[in-house]
Amino acid sequence: MPNVRITEVGPRDGLQSIRGVMSTPHKCSWIEQLARAGLPEIEVASFVPAKLLPQMADAAEVVRFSTQLKHITISALVPNVMGAKAAFSAGVHKVVIPVSASEAHSVANVRKTHAQMLQEVRAIIAERNAIDPAITIHIGLSTAFGCSIAGAVPEDDVVVLTRQLAELGVDAIGLADTTGYANPAQVKRLFARVRAEVGPLCKSAHLHNTRGLGLANALAAFEADIREFDSSMGGIGGCPFAPGASGNVVTEDLVFMFEAMGITTGVDLDALMKAREAFAAGLPDEPTYGMVAAAGLPKGFRSSRGNVMSNVPASAPQAEY
Ligand code: ZN
Repeated sequence: MPNVRITEVGPRDGLQSIRGVMSTPHKCSWIEQLARAGLPEIEVASFVPAKLLPQMADAAEVVRFSTQLKHITISALVPNVMGAKAAFSAGVHKVVIPVSASEAHSVANVRKTHAQMLQEVRAIIAERNAIDPAITIHIGLSTAFGCSIAGAVPEDDVVVLTRQLAELGVDAIGLADTTGYANPAQVKRLFARVRAEVGPLCKSAHLHNTRGLGLANALAAFEADIREFDSSMGGIGGCPFAPGASGNVVTEDLVFMFEAMGITTGVDLDALMKAREAFAAGLPDEPTYGMVAAAGLPKGFRSSRGNVMSNVPASAPQAEY
């Protein structure tokens, strides 16, 4: 078992945040390459009305394809019971329900107060229990570290909400820095507070690199005993309203950081770099981010999967200081 578990969210979080629409065959071949790289889990789709998110219109088809792949958990985002029913019937292993820690964000985004959202979660759990109790219900607690509408989100509010979600019987809770506001001290403190309240039920971190603190925040979460991380290939998934803003923590860089520290991920970095090509084939004009992809692996580097420096750019500087 690798030391940390990295879930690739690019096919969902990334693709739904950008204007271009990737074709279904391109999505499937990208997901297949990601699976081949050894990622244990991929969030492949969002079950929302196609008129709201045309990028996700093929969600059921993509889930049906992805669940044929071996040794991988396939998850999808579902904002409500209707979406959950569609995801269950497509065969997902796990659903991720976004719940905004900021009530103002929740009302603006899904027109639901916290009480109404908790009711929705309760209904999804009942539906899951009736269909297949083996399906995991994961809460993605968005805006946990700050909100673009309300600004600061009181940590007490986050703690209370996670307690309420735990009482409903969800299987897992992840804290998400949707807005890229978090800093490492805050990440460490909030994870510790929430885990003191609900224990290891709070197990994952979904971090963005909007202000360059993505990896620092991931390391802070690791130091707070978090071992599950979401990230996105090429960092896609920036805010569509902030052009140039990078999005989720870059999967390639996150894998490199952990592997360089001797913390195993199970991910093959060479195969991961190959998967970037599958993404680019589907959306050639979409910018991607990533320091390791740009610079190559350090000389003499060897990952737990045996990856060595093999992708040095031709212009690699030879005399740096
Ligand atoms: Zn995200």
